[in-house]
Amino acid sequence: MQPMCRFWLAPYFHQSSVCASRPSIQHIFLRFQRSKHSLAPSAPFRPLAFYALHALPETSLPSLESNIRNQLKKLDTVGRIYLAPDSGIGGINAQLSVPVHQVSAVQSVFDTLPQFRGVSFEYNYGMEDTEKPSFRNLKVLLKPHLVAVGTAVNNRDLSKKPIYLTPDQWHQQLSNCDKDTLLIDMRNHYEYDVGRFKNATKMNVDTFRDSLKVLDDLVASREKDEAIYMYCTGGIRCSVAGAYMTNKGYTNVNMLKGGITNYGHYINENKVENSLFRGSNFTFDGRRGERITDDVLAHCHQCGAPCDVLSNCANKLCHLLFIQCPSCKQKHEKTCSSECCDVVHGRKEWSHEYNYHAQIRPSSKIHASLE
Ligand SMILES: [Zn+2]
Ligand SMILES: [Zn+2]
Repeated sequence: MQPMCRFWLAPYFHQSSVCASRPSIQHIFLRFQRSKHSLAPSAPFRPLAFYALHALPETSLPSLESNIRNQLKKLDTVGRIYLAPDSGIGGINAQLSVPVHQVSAVQSVFDTLPQFRGVSFEYNYGMEDTEKPSFRNLKVLLKPHLVAVGTAVNNRDLSKKPIYLTPDQWHQQLSNCDKDTLLIDMRNHYEYDVGRFKNATKMNVDTFRDSLKVLDDLVASREKDEAIYMYCTGGIRCSVAGAYMTNKGYTNVNMLKGGITNYGHYINENKVENSLFRGSNFTFDGRRGERITDDVLAHCHQCGAPCDVLSNCANKLCHLLFIQCPSCKQKHEKTCSSECCDVVHGRKEWSHEYNYHAQIRPSSKIHASLE
């Protein structure tokens, strides 16, 4: 790929435009690209995400997995689907990249699965279609829990649901709240750093596994009927965390239905000027985020320049997800630290004793990864 292409394509995948009504510069450029390559146009892909917490018997999972895989392959769909049995937090969680003309066919695959009879999936579309699929392949994986939690929790422990607020209700209620209102960002620290709701509390965790304990501490001094607001990317983490709180006796737990993605559509479609969310909504796929507003809230972890693009360290043994500006990317050869750079070049052996993440995040033990 020529440097010019790299310069232009990067913002498309990293910084989706928020304006649906007029073409962004990225759109104009992509149209130009399409016209240049009109002999071999690639079908655009639509990011599609959905989940359901649902009791699935363990014995049903192997046939369900192969059925989904076979049907989606025929529809040229890629992405990541997790299935989990009811012995843990059971159900389905899917992030897909679907050829636009196959979206309704893909939805009907899930709408007609006998294992989900009675479940009405709420499909969440990405803010923009992408020129290329945002996953490399299709993975349908069986896991003990849909979302990893540190303690033993299953669907029965989550039977009392939190209050699901539509983006409009969310926007109206939070617009009238003061700074003392408990608004919790249920995502990982780096997701918060690149985009967040005004006055949101940062969990400062590396993974969701760490967050229920932090949540317990956060609400310990609060009354059981005090309003708690929580949000995440698409809603699944709050469906679990919100139900966890409600089942502990908290009676006023409110979550954003469909997460930040749904709120992004709401502000676009209604041309809401005063978005309460600023920055980018990080996504665990090749897009690495959807831009909700043009604000750049974060800084390069290495030089401090304004930047909100997350990438993984090129040292595969480290793989730390961190913020790196283009100039540091070049200078440090896509690695997070001098130690990792030395490992990549074979100047040093990888040592499990050394905390390679310490140069970015001293307390870090666990790391996330991108597709
Ligand atoms: Zn930098
Ligand atoms: Zn590294």
